[in-house]
Amino acid sequence: MTNKSKRAVSAMSDDEFDAKFPSEKAAVDWFIDIRYKGNLTCPHCGETISIYRERERLKVFHCSQCNNSFSPIKGTIFEKTHLSIIRWFKIIKNFLNDRAGYSACHVTRDIKVTYKTAFRMLHQIRIAMANREIEQVFEGVVEVDETYVGGKPRKTNAVLDKEGNTIVKPKIKNKRGRGTNKIPVSGVKERSTGHVYAKVMFPNKEGKKLSGKQLLAVIEEACKKGTVINTDEFRSYGILNSKVNKEKYIHVTINHKKGQYVNGDIHTNGIENFWSVIKNGIRGVYHHISVKYLQRYVDEFCFRQNTRLDTNMFNVLLKQCILV
Ligand SMILES: [Zn+2]
Repeated sequence: MTNKSKRAVSAMSDDEFDAKFPSEKAAVDWFIDIRYKGNLTCPHCGETISIYRERERLKVFHCSQCNNSFSPIKGTIFEKTHLSIIRWFKIIKNFLNDRAGYSACHVTRDIKVTYKTAFRMLHQIRIAMANREIEQVFEGVVEVDETYVGGKPRKTNAVLDKEGNTIVKPKIKNKRGRGTNKIPVSGVKERSTGHVYAKVMFPNKEGKKLSGKQLLAVIEEACKKGTVINTDEFRSYGILNSKVNKEKYIHVTINHKKGQYVNGDIHTNGIENFWSVIKNGIRGVYHHISVKYLQRYVDEFCFRQNTRLDTNMFNVLLKQCILV
Protein backbone atom coordinates (compact mmCIF):
# COMPACT_ATOMS: atom_id res chain seq x y z
CA MET A 1 0.00 0.00 0.00
CA THR A 2 1.38 3.40 -0.89
CA ASN A 3 1.27 6.40 1.41
CA LYS A 4 -1.27 8.03 -0.85
CA SER A 5 -3.87 5.37 -0.12
CA LYS A 6 -3.45 5.67 3.63
CA ARG A 7 -5.97 7.97 5.24
CA ALA A 8 -4.83 10.66 7.60
CA VAL A 9 -5.84 9.98 11.19
CA SER A 10 -7.07 12.39 13.85
CA ALA A 11 -5.22 13.06 17.08
CA MET A 12 -8.01 12.21 19.49
CA SER A 13 -11.79 12.40 19.59
CA ASP A 14 -13.55 14.63 22.13
CA ASP A 15 -14.76 11.55 24.02
CA GLU A 16 -11.26 10.09 24.15
CA PHE A 17 -9.99 13.41 25.39
CA ASP A 18 -12.57 13.61 28.18
CA ALA A 19 -11.84 10.03 29.23
CA LYS A 20 -8.10 10.57 29.22
CA PHE A 21 -8.13 13.95 30.94
CA PRO A 22 -11.02 14.06 33.40
CA SER A 23 -9.26 16.74 35.47
CA GLU A 24 -6.38 19.19 35.48
CA LYS A 25 -4.47 16.78 37.72
CA ALA A 26 -4.86 14.00 35.16
CA ALA A 27 -3.49 16.30 32.45
CA VAL A 28 -0.48 17.40 34.52
CA ASP A 29 0.24 13.79 35.49
CA TRP A 30 0.04 12.73 31.86
CA PHE A 31 2.57 15.37 30.91
CA ILE A 32 4.88 14.33 33.75
CA ASP A 33 4.71 10.74 32.48
CA ILE A 34 5.60 11.87 28.96
CA ARG A 35 8.43 14.11 30.12
CA TYR A 36 9.98 11.99 32.87
CA LYS A 37 8.94 8.52 31.65
CA GLY A 38 7.57 7.62 35.07
CA ASN A 39 10.63 8.88 36.93
CA LEU A 40 9.89 12.40 38.07
CA THR A 41 13.35 13.80 38.72
CA CYS A 42 14.39 16.75 40.86
CA PRO A 43 16.29 19.16 38.56
CA HIS A 44 18.30 20.42 41.55
CA CYS A 45 19.81 17.17 42.83
CA GLY A 46 18.68 14.41 40.46
CA GLU A 47 16.65 12.64 43.14
CA THR A 48 13.73 10.53 41.87
CA ILE A 49 12.31 8.99 45.03
CA SER A 50 11.42 11.45 47.79
CA ILE A 51 9.47 13.86 45.63
CA TYR A 52 6.02 15.01 46.63
CA ARG A 53 3.43 17.23 45.09
CA GLU A 54 2.95 20.40 47.09
CA ARG A 55 -0.45 20.54 48.68
CA GLU A 56 -3.03 22.38 46.57
CA ARG A 57 -0.48 23.11 43.87
CA LEU A 58 -0.76 20.71 40.96
CA LYS A 59 2.26 21.99 39.08
CA VAL A 60 4.75 22.31 41.95
CA PHE A 61 6.72 19.46 43.48
CA HIS A 62 8.98 19.36 46.50
CA CYS A 63 12.15 17.33 46.83
CA SER A 64 12.82 16.28 50.41
CA GLN A 65 16.36 15.23 49.51
CA CYS A 66 17.55 18.78 48.76
CA ASN A 67 14.56 20.69 50.14
CA ASN A 68 13.90 22.53 46.85
CA SER A 69 10.72 22.95 44.89
CA PHE A 70 10.37 22.70 41.14
CA SER A 71 7.80 22.75 38.40
CA PRO A 72 7.65 19.89 35.89
CA ILE A 73 6.52 22.33 33.19
CA LYS A 74 9.62 24.50 33.43
CA GLY A 75 11.52 24.55 30.15
CA THR A 76 8.42 23.75 28.09
CA ILE A 77 6.10 25.88 26.00
CA PHE A 78 3.69 25.87 28.98
CA GLU A 79 6.19 27.45 31.35
CA LYS A 80 4.98 31.05 31.32
CA THR A 81 1.30 30.30 31.16
CA HIS A 82 -1.48 31.16 33.58
CA LEU A 83 -3.79 28.79 31.79
CA SER A 84 -4.46 25.30 33.02
CA ILE A 85 -2.63 22.46 31.27
CA ILE A 86 -5.92 20.82 30.39
CA ARG A 87 -6.92 23.90 28.38
CA TRP A 88 -3.59 23.77 26.56
CA PHE A 89 -4.16 20.08 25.82
CA LYS A 90 -7.62 20.83 24.49
CA ILE A 91 -6.20 23.42 22.11
CA ILE A 92 -3.41 21.07 21.02
CA LYS A 93 -5.99 18.34 20.34
CA ASN A 94 -8.22 20.73 18.36
CA PHE A 95 -5.20 22.14 16.51
CA LEU A 96 -4.20 18.64 15.40
CA ASN A 97 -7.74 17.56 14.54
CA ASP A 98 -8.47 20.58 12.34
CA ARG A 99 -6.13 19.40 9.64
CA ALA A 100 -6.61 22.33 7.30
CA GLY A 101 -5.48 24.81 9.98
CA TYR A 102 -6.76 26.15 13.30
CA SER A 103 -6.93 29.90 13.81
CA ALA A 104 -6.74 32.09 16.88
CA CYS A 105 -10.45 32.90 16.36
CA HIS A 106 -11.22 29.20 16.80
CA VAL A 107 -9.22 29.18 20.04
CA THR A 108 -11.12 32.14 21.49
CA ARG A 109 -14.35 30.31 20.68
CA ASP A 110 -13.16 26.97 22.09
CA ILE A 111 -11.67 28.01 25.43
CA LYS A 112 -12.76 31.62 26.00
CA VAL A 113 -9.47 33.45 26.06
CA THR A 114 -8.54 36.77 24.46
CA TYR A 115 -7.40 36.86 20.86
CA LYS A 116 -3.92 37.88 22.00
CA THR A 117 -3.63 34.88 24.31
CA ALA A 118 -5.00 32.60 21.59
CA PHE A 119 -2.54 33.92 19.03
CA ARG A 120 0.34 33.42 21.43
CA MET A 121 -0.76 29.87 22.31
CA LEU A 122 -0.87 28.82 18.68
CA HIS A 123 2.59 30.21 18.06
CA GLN A 124 3.94 28.36 21.10
CA ILE A 125 2.44 25.16 19.69
CA ARG A 126 4.04 25.89 16.31
CA ILE A 127 7.40 26.31 18.06
CA ALA A 128 6.91 22.82 19.50
CA MET A 129 5.96 21.50 16.06
CA ALA A 130 9.29 22.76 14.73
CA ASN A 131 11.20 21.23 17.61
CA ARG A 132 12.49 18.09 15.93
CA GLU A 133 15.84 16.73 14.87
CA ILE A 134 16.08 16.66 11.10
CA GLU A 135 19.80 15.79 10.72
CA GLN A 136 19.86 13.98 7.36
CA VAL A 137 17.01 11.57 7.92
CA PHE A 138 15.76 11.40 4.34
CA GLU A 139 17.06 8.71 2.01
CA GLY A 140 16.14 6.82 -1.13
CA VAL A 141 14.28 9.14 -3.48
CA VAL A 142 13.36 12.72 -2.59
CA GLU A 143 11.78 15.62 -4.45
CA VAL A 144 13.05 19.16 -4.00
CA ASP A 145 11.16 22.27 -5.09
CA GLU A 146 10.47 25.85 -4.08
CA THR A 147 7.36 27.97 -3.86
CA TYR A 148 6.12 31.37 -2.78
CA VAL A 149 3.67 31.31 0.09
CA GLY A 150 1.48 34.20 1.12
CA GLY A 151 -1.11 36.54 -0.28
CA LYS A 152 -0.75 39.02 -3.06
CA PRO A 153 1.79 41.75 -2.35
CA ARG A 154 0.14 44.89 -1.02
CA LYS A 155 0.29 48.15 -2.88
CA THR A 156 3.21 49.21 -0.80
CA ASN A 157 5.13 46.04 -0.50
CA ALA A 158 6.83 45.27 2.78
CA VAL A 159 9.73 42.86 2.56
CA LEU A 160 12.41 41.83 4.99
CA ASP A 161 15.99 42.91 4.54
CA LYS A 162 18.84 40.59 5.45
CA GLU A 163 18.77 41.63 9.11
CA GLY A 164 15.10 40.77 9.28
CA ASN A 165 13.89 44.39 9.39
CA THR A 166 10.81 45.30 7.44
CA ILE A 167 11.47 47.62 4.55
CA VAL A 168 8.74 49.02 2.38
CA LYS A 169 9.34 48.89 -1.32
CA PRO A 170 7.37 50.94 -3.84
CA LYS A 171 4.37 49.55 -5.63
CA ILE A 172 5.18 46.54 -7.74
CA LYS A 173 3.28 44.31 -10.05
CA ASN A 174 2.11 41.03 -8.64
CA LYS A 175 4.39 38.63 -10.42
CA ARG A 176 3.99 34.93 -9.99
CA GLY A 177 6.61 32.25 -9.52
CA ARG A 178 10.29 33.02 -9.70
CA GLY A 179 10.77 36.76 -10.05
CA THR A 180 8.02 37.62 -7.57
CA ASN A 181 8.83 39.85 -4.64
CA LYS A 182 7.41 37.35 -2.14
CA ILE A 183 9.61 35.28 0.12
CA PRO A 184 10.34 31.80 -1.22
CA VAL A 185 10.14 28.53 0.67
CA SER A 186 12.31 25.58 -0.25
CA GLY A 187 11.24 22.03 0.56
CA VAL A 188 12.23 18.38 0.39
CA LYS A 189 9.83 15.45 0.36
CA GLU A 190 10.90 11.86 0.91
CA ARG A 191 8.99 9.58 -1.44
CA SER A 192 8.87 6.44 0.71
CA THR A 193 7.40 8.12 3.80
CA GLY A 194 5.84 11.30 2.39
CA HIS A 195 7.72 13.22 5.07
CA VAL A 196 8.66 16.81 4.34
CA TYR A 197 11.17 19.41 5.45
CA ALA A 198 10.83 23.05 4.41
CA LYS A 199 12.59 26.32 5.09
CA VAL A 200 11.77 29.94 4.38
CA MET A 201 14.57 31.32 2.23
CA PHE A 202 15.41 34.96 2.82
CA PRO A 203 17.55 36.58 0.14
CA ASN A 204 21.31 36.11 0.59
CA LYS A 205 23.79 38.92 1.31
CA GLU A 206 23.76 40.06 -2.31
CA GLY A 207 19.96 40.16 -2.25
CA LYS A 208 19.81 37.09 -4.45
CA LYS A 209 16.97 34.67 -3.86
CA LEU A 210 17.28 30.91 -4.02
CA SER A 211 20.96 30.69 -4.70
CA GLY A 212 22.41 27.27 -5.36
CA LYS A 213 24.19 27.39 -2.02
CA GLN A 214 20.96 28.10 -0.14
CA LEU A 215 19.11 25.26 -1.85
CA LEU A 216 22.02 22.91 -1.29
CA ALA A 217 22.02 23.78 2.43
CA VAL A 218 18.41 22.60 2.78
CA ILE A 219 19.18 19.38 0.89
CA GLU A 220 22.26 18.76 3.04
CA GLU A 221 20.27 19.29 6.24
CA ALA A 222 17.60 16.78 5.26
CA CYS A 223 19.18 14.12 3.03
CA LYS A 224 21.65 11.30 3.53
CA LYS A 225 24.48 10.68 1.13
CA GLY A 226 23.40 8.66 -1.88
CA THR A 227 19.89 10.14 -2.03
CA VAL A 228 18.28 10.48 -5.47
CA ILE A 229 17.14 14.09 -5.84
CA ASN A 230 14.37 15.04 -8.23
CA THR A 231 14.19 18.72 -9.19
CA ASP A 232 13.00 20.80 -12.09
CA GLU A 233 15.43 22.59 -14.41
CA PHE A 234 15.82 25.73 -12.24
CA ARG A 235 19.43 26.77 -12.73
CA SER A 236 20.31 26.99 -9.02
CA TYR A 237 19.97 23.20 -8.82
CA GLY A 238 22.96 23.06 -11.16
CA ILE A 239 25.02 23.13 -7.97
CA LEU A 240 24.09 19.46 -7.55
CA ASN A 241 26.01 18.65 -10.72
CA SER A 242 29.35 19.85 -9.39
CA LYS A 243 32.01 17.18 -8.96
CA VAL A 244 31.84 17.19 -5.18
CA ASN A 245 28.04 17.06 -5.04
CA LYS A 246 27.84 14.34 -7.68
CA GLU A 247 29.73 12.16 -5.25
CA LYS A 248 27.06 12.82 -2.61
CA TYR A 249 23.77 12.74 -4.51
CA ILE A 250 22.19 11.45 -7.69
CA HIS A 251 20.48 14.42 -9.35
CA VAL A 252 17.68 13.93 -11.88
CA THR A 253 15.65 16.72 -13.48
CA ILE A 254 12.33 17.23 -15.17
CA ASN A 255 12.00 20.02 -17.70
CA HIS A 256 8.82 21.97 -16.95
CA LYS A 257 9.68 24.58 -19.55
CA LYS A 258 9.39 21.97 -22.25
CA GLY A 259 6.00 20.95 -20.88
CA GLN A 260 7.43 17.90 -19.25
CA TYR A 261 5.88 17.11 -15.87
CA VAL A 262 6.52 13.42 -15.41
CA ASN A 263 9.31 11.45 -16.99
CA GLY A 264 8.99 7.93 -15.66
CA ASP A 265 9.76 8.23 -11.98
CA ILE A 266 11.31 11.66 -12.39
CA HIS A 267 8.87 14.28 -11.12
CA THR A 268 8.25 16.71 -8.27
CA ASN A 269 4.50 16.13 -7.93
CA GLY A 270 4.73 15.08 -4.28
CA ILE A 271 6.34 18.25 -3.01
CA GLU A 272 4.09 20.31 -5.29
CA ASN A 273 1.05 18.70 -3.63
CA PHE A 274 2.46 19.71 -0.28
CA TRP A 275 2.76 23.31 -1.48
CA SER A 276 -0.94 23.24 -2.38
CA VAL A 277 -1.80 22.05 1.12
CA ILE A 278 0.15 24.90 2.71
CA LYS A 279 -1.27 27.49 0.34
CA ASN A 280 -4.84 26.31 0.82
CA GLY A 281 -4.38 26.33 4.59
CA ILE A 282 -3.00 29.83 4.62
CA ARG A 283 -5.59 31.14 2.19
CA GLY A 284 -8.53 29.39 3.82
CA VAL A 285 -7.77 29.62 7.52
CA TYR A 286 -5.00 32.07 8.24
CA HIS A 287 -5.80 34.60 5.48
CA HIS A 288 -2.75 36.79 5.70
CA ILE A 289 0.31 36.01 7.72
CA SER A 290 3.31 38.07 8.59
CA VAL A 291 6.58 37.22 6.88
CA LYS A 292 8.08 37.26 10.35
CA TYR A 293 6.00 34.19 11.27
CA LEU A 294 6.05 32.44 7.91
CA GLN A 295 8.54 29.78 9.04
CA ARG A 296 6.24 28.86 11.93
CA TYR A 297 3.30 28.23 9.62
CA VAL A 298 5.56 26.21 7.35
CA ASP A 299 6.67 24.20 10.40
CA GLU A 300 3.04 23.62 11.32
CA PHE A 301 2.19 22.16 7.94
CA CYS A 302 5.35 20.04 7.93
CA PHE A 303 4.38 18.60 11.32
CA ARG A 304 0.85 17.89 10.09
CA GLN A 305 2.18 16.14 7.01
CA ASN A 306 4.81 14.13 8.88
CA THR A 307 2.43 12.86 11.56
CA ARG A 308 -0.68 12.48 9.43
CA LEU A 309 -0.65 8.67 9.77
CA ASP A 310 0.52 8.59 13.38
CA THR A 311 -2.25 7.84 15.87
CA ASN A 312 0.22 8.88 18.55
CA MET A 313 0.66 12.42 17.18
CA PHE A 314 -0.70 14.05 20.35
CA ASN A 315 2.07 12.48 22.45
CA VAL A 316 4.66 13.17 19.75
CA LEU A 317 3.77 16.85 19.98
CA LEU A 318 3.73 16.84 23.80
CA LYS A 319 7.29 15.50 23.74
CA GLN A 320 8.26 18.31 21.40
CA CYS A 321 6.73 20.85 23.81
CA ILE A 322 9.76 20.20 26.02
CA LEU A 323 12.25 22.77 24.78
CA VAL A 324 15.23 22.05 26.99
ZN1 LIG B 1 16.34 17.66 44.95
